[in-house]
Amino acid sequence: LVAAVLCTHVYSWLKLAARSIFCKIIAGQIPSMKLYEDDEVLAFLDIGPIAKRHALVIPKYHAAKLHELPDEHLGRLLPVAKRLALASGADEYNILQNNGRGAHQQVDHVHFHMIPKTSPKEGLIIEWPAT
Ligand code: 5GP
Repeated sequence: LVAAVLCTHVYSWLKLAARSIFCKIIAGQIPSMKLYEDDEVLAFLDIGPIAKRHALVIPKYHAAKLHELPDEHLGRLLPVAKRLALASGADEYNILQNNGRGAHQQVDHVHFHMIPKTSPKEGLIIEWPAT
């Protein structure tokens, strides 16, 4: 019995340790500048922005890479990225998504970057912090 209880504890500890930093943001264990949230999706400002209003859109379902994410969760992400692009006021922007270290993925939780490039009002969008 002691071994079984110990195994269960070790298993839950390993599961907790395996959670990504973005799972901790979803759980509210790490703060973030939230831009949008619903039952399936969270969007927040990137902590290391390469442009003003650089945002990340993530599924609440944990999947490290795109091909591991079920379609029903994937389908909820791009409409939010589109809405953020519109809200940023940028008329030129990048939507990026990286998978694997060789493809520049640092955080093992699927995410789309929304990176504003230029805005008709502000020209090149490079300032920080976001307003
Ligand atoms: P990747 O290279 O995996 O496509 O991008 C990961 C992004 O997550 C990076 O742009 C990085 O700045 C951002 N990031 C990493 N850790 C955190 C964090 O704790 N909070 C926020 N808001 N962004 C993070």
